[in-house]
Amino acid sequence: HAKRSGRDQVARYDGAAKTSVTPHRLEAEELRHAIEAGEITPVYQPVWDISREGEPVLHGYEALARWRRPDGVLIPPAQFIERAETAGLIGALGRSIFRQAMRHLRGARDRRLSMAVNVSVRQLVAEGFADEVLADLVEIGVEPARLSLEITETQAMEAPELSLATLRRLSAAGVSIAIDDFGIGFASLAYVRDLPAAELKIDQRFVSGMPDNGKDRAVVRAVVELAHSLGMRTVAEGVETPEQLALLREVGVDLVQGYLLGRPQPAEALMNLGPLGEDERRPPPPRTRARA
Ligand code: C2E
Ligand code: MG
Ligand code: MG
Ligand code: MG
Repeated sequence: HAKRSGRDQVARYDGAAKTSVTPHRLEAEELRHAIEAGEITPVYQPVWDISREGEPVLHGYEALARWRRPDGVLIPPAQFIERAETAGLIGALGRSIFRQAMRHLRGARDRRLSMAVNVSVRQLVAEGFADEVLADLVEIGVEPARLSLEITETQAMEAPELSLATLRRLSAAGVSIAIDDFGIGFASLAYVRDLPAAELKIDQRFVSGMPDNGKDRAVVRAVVELAHSLGMRTVAEGVETPEQLALLREVGVDLVQGYLLGRPQPAEALMNLGPLGEDERRPPPPRTRARA
């Protein structure tokens, strides 16, 4: 099912996600060079607050890595993050993305915006990770409270004790911790309870079934209840239709992101922002809602 034709090209089936790896085997040297040459940069997807009445309000952005090769080809993270992890390059790559995102956030004129950055467990368990993050924030001039670090549920379980200490340290310094792709991994409720996480990000495969799939709706409702009773916020990923948005609002989801309200965009979009009037903090009217 998941196999594609083409030499060396494989598509793996894990959970519901198809991940293709590069057609040729990505050499560690090639990736190291790309990182050093600054070819891997973040794009930014807007995150919207729907917890209050009225139109969604811009809450912040999630930084998503993109590799822009000199030949113009744009390579998505599914094709190089894992390789960076196995090649021992994720520390350098992750730090580069993080520092770029923080510089762009500082450059954004709206001081209320937050920035979410994805972190690999290999970064998290590396000696001195928390100190490095906090020192970078001081150097770049971003308050810890404006940063959210995302770790996937699956990866968080790979080194539960080690990551807990680091996450607690960052959280105590004011950094928000978010559990990404929540609901498809194997985190125990005891672990989730003990995590100093501020946000649960509901995986988009639960959102994509809404509103037709009653079971997906029930799962999302239950996650929202769990999160809120633990004092955490929920973020829904992959919101693509007005119907999904309406339902997520109805079940009490706090924040949303997805193609309906904004695709990932280059840093310039962020730099040109604010200080915004309330009008500008609203999303553009989605095309699907356009009147005939
Ligand atoms: P993620 O953190 O769960 O990010 C959400 C993914 O969903 C992104 O894919 C985003 O572009 C995509 N997405 C957003 N809205 C929609 C929508 O409405 N519909 C659909 N179908 N997709 C949507 P992307 O950018 O390809 O990133 C994939 C994953 O790669 C991320 O999943 C994250 O786990 C990882 N990743 C990205 N950047 C970094 C990074 O700098 N460091 C690390 N360690 N991982 C990263
Ligand atoms: Mg994420
Ligand atoms: Mg996710
Ligand atoms: Mg997303």
